[in-house]
Amino acid sequence: MKVRRIKNGTVIDHITSGMALRVVDILGLGSHNESILSIVMNVPTGNGGTKDIVKVENRELKKSEVDRIALIAPEATINLIRFSKVTNKLTVELPEEVHAIVECKNKNCITNQHEPVEHWFSVISREPLRLQCKYCEREAEDIASCLI
Ligand SMILES: [Zn+2]
Repeated sequence: MKVRRIKNGTVIDHITSGMALRVVDILGLGSHNESILSIVMNVPTGNGGTKDIVKVENRELKKSEVDRIALIAPEATINLIRFSKVTNKLTVELPEEVHAIVECKNKNCITNQHEPVEHWFSVISREPLRLQCKYCEREAEDIASCLI
Protein backbone atom coordinates (compact mmCIF):
# COMPACT_ATOMS: atom_id res chain seq x y z
CA MET A 1 0.00 0.00 0.00
CA LYS A 2 1.28 3.44 -0.90
CA VAL A 3 0.63 6.43 1.28
CA ARG A 4 1.47 9.85 0.01
CA ARG A 5 4.54 11.43 1.47
CA ILE A 6 3.90 14.44 3.60
CA LYS A 7 5.74 17.70 3.19
CA ASN A 8 5.40 19.04 6.72
CA GLY A 9 4.13 17.32 9.81
CA THR A 10 4.62 14.21 11.92
CA VAL A 11 4.85 10.53 11.01
CA ILE A 12 4.22 8.07 13.83
CA ASP A 13 5.66 4.76 12.68
CA HIS A 14 5.96 1.29 14.22
CA ILE A 15 2.68 1.58 16.09
CA THR A 16 1.56 -1.75 17.56
CA SER A 17 -0.77 -3.30 14.96
CA GLY A 18 -4.40 -2.40 15.56
CA MET A 19 -3.61 0.55 17.84
CA ALA A 20 -3.58 3.37 15.27
CA LEU A 21 -7.08 4.62 16.04
CA ARG A 22 -6.37 4.59 19.74
CA VAL A 23 -3.20 6.58 19.15
CA VAL A 24 -5.26 9.13 17.21
CA ASP A 25 -7.71 9.34 20.12
CA ILE A 26 -5.07 9.70 22.80
CA LEU A 27 -3.27 12.40 20.84
CA GLY A 28 -6.54 14.30 20.39
CA LEU A 29 -6.30 14.09 16.62
CA GLY A 30 -9.89 12.93 16.23
CA SER A 31 -13.00 15.00 15.66
CA HIS A 32 -11.88 18.48 16.73
CA ASN A 33 -8.63 18.37 14.87
CA GLU A 34 -8.06 20.18 11.59
CA SER A 35 -4.89 18.45 10.42
CA ILE A 36 -5.05 16.02 7.49
CA LEU A 37 -4.56 12.51 8.86
CA SER A 38 -3.47 9.38 7.04
CA ILE A 39 -3.91 6.14 8.94
CA VAL A 40 -2.43 2.93 7.57
CA MET A 41 -3.04 -0.29 9.43
CA ASN A 42 -1.47 -3.75 9.30
CA VAL A 43 1.50 -2.77 7.16
CA PRO A 44 3.88 -5.75 6.81
CA THR A 45 7.24 -5.20 8.47
CA GLY A 46 10.44 -6.81 7.26
CA ASN A 47 10.46 -9.43 10.00
CA GLY A 48 7.06 -10.99 9.29
CA GLY A 49 5.03 -8.84 11.67
CA THR A 50 2.70 -5.94 11.00
CA LYS A 51 2.49 -2.36 12.21
CA ASP A 52 0.29 0.70 11.94
CA ILE A 53 1.38 4.16 10.76
CA VAL A 54 -0.25 7.55 11.41
CA LYS A 55 0.71 10.66 9.44
CA VAL A 56 -0.35 14.09 10.61
CA GLU A 57 0.09 16.93 8.13
CA ASN A 58 1.18 20.42 9.10
CA ARG A 59 1.49 19.68 12.76
CA GLU A 60 4.60 18.77 14.76
CA LEU A 61 3.77 16.78 17.83
CA LYS A 62 5.68 17.59 21.00
CA LYS A 63 7.64 15.06 23.03
CA SER A 64 5.20 15.40 25.93
CA GLU A 65 2.33 14.55 23.56
CA VAL A 66 3.92 11.50 21.99
CA ASP A 67 4.94 10.09 25.37
CA ARG A 68 1.24 9.66 26.11
CA ILE A 69 1.06 6.80 23.62
CA ALA A 70 3.81 4.81 25.37
CA LEU A 71 1.27 2.59 27.13
CA ILE A 72 -0.32 1.31 23.94
CA ALA A 73 2.47 1.71 21.37
CA PRO A 74 5.78 1.39 23.21
CA GLU A 75 7.76 0.67 20.01
CA ALA A 76 6.49 3.73 18.14
CA THR A 77 8.96 6.09 16.50
CA ILE A 78 8.12 9.68 15.65
CA ASN A 79 9.58 11.52 12.68
CA LEU A 80 9.09 15.26 12.35
CA ILE A 81 9.06 16.31 8.70
CA ARG A 82 9.86 19.74 7.30
CA PHE A 83 10.02 20.40 3.56
CA SER A 84 9.77 16.63 2.91
CA LYS A 85 12.86 15.85 5.02
CA VAL A 86 13.01 14.20 8.42
CA THR A 87 14.34 16.91 10.72
CA ASN A 88 13.97 15.14 14.04
CA LYS A 89 13.32 11.62 15.31
CA LEU A 90 11.76 11.02 18.70
CA THR A 91 11.24 7.79 20.58
CA VAL A 92 8.34 7.20 22.90
CA GLU A 93 9.11 7.08 26.60
CA LEU A 94 6.73 6.26 29.39
CA PRO A 95 6.25 9.42 31.49
CA GLU A 96 6.41 9.47 35.31
CA GLU A 97 2.69 10.01 35.49
CA VAL A 98 -0.18 8.93 33.28
CA HIS A 99 -3.05 11.38 33.02
CA ALA A 100 -6.53 10.56 31.67
CA ILE A 101 -5.44 7.46 29.73
CA VAL A 102 -5.99 4.69 32.27
CA GLU A 103 -9.00 4.53 34.57
CA CYS A 104 -9.11 3.48 38.21
CA LYS A 105 -11.29 0.42 38.80
CA ASN A 106 -11.94 1.26 42.45
CA LYS A 107 -15.65 2.16 42.57
CA ASN A 108 -15.09 4.25 45.71
CA CYS A 109 -12.26 6.27 44.19
CA ILE A 110 -13.00 9.99 43.77
CA THR A 111 -12.33 9.62 40.05
CA ASN A 112 -15.44 7.42 39.85
CA GLN A 113 -17.76 9.68 41.89
CA HIS A 114 -18.98 11.93 39.05
CA GLU A 115 -16.61 14.61 40.29
CA PRO A 116 -14.67 16.66 37.74
CA VAL A 117 -11.52 14.73 38.62
CA GLU A 118 -9.52 13.01 35.89
CA HIS A 119 -7.90 9.64 36.27
CA TRP A 120 -4.28 10.08 37.24
CA PHE A 121 -1.69 7.37 37.88
CA SER A 122 1.93 7.28 38.99
CA VAL A 123 4.25 4.88 37.21
CA ILE A 124 5.72 2.91 40.13
CA SER A 125 7.54 0.34 37.99
CA ARG A 126 8.42 0.16 34.31
CA GLU A 127 9.56 -3.47 34.00
CA PRO A 128 7.07 -4.91 34.65
CA LEU A 129 4.72 -1.99 34.13
CA ARG A 130 2.90 -1.04 37.36
CA LEU A 131 0.63 1.97 37.79
CA GLN A 132 -0.84 3.33 41.02
CA CYS A 133 -3.83 5.68 41.31
CA LYS A 134 -2.79 9.08 42.69
CA TYR A 135 -6.04 9.39 44.67
CA CYS A 136 -6.90 6.02 46.22
CA GLU A 137 -3.48 4.36 45.74
CA ARG A 138 -5.03 1.28 44.17
CA GLU A 139 -2.77 -0.40 41.64
CA ALA A 140 -4.14 -0.88 38.13
CA GLU A 141 -4.51 -4.56 37.27
CA ASP A 142 -4.54 -5.72 33.66
CA ILE A 143 -3.64 -2.27 32.37
CA ALA A 144 -4.79 -2.97 28.81
CA SER A 145 -8.36 -3.39 30.07
CA CYS A 146 -8.19 -0.11 32.03
CA LEU A 147 -7.41 2.07 29.02
CA ILE A 148 -10.00 4.81 28.63
ZN1 LIG B 1 -8.33 5.44 42.37
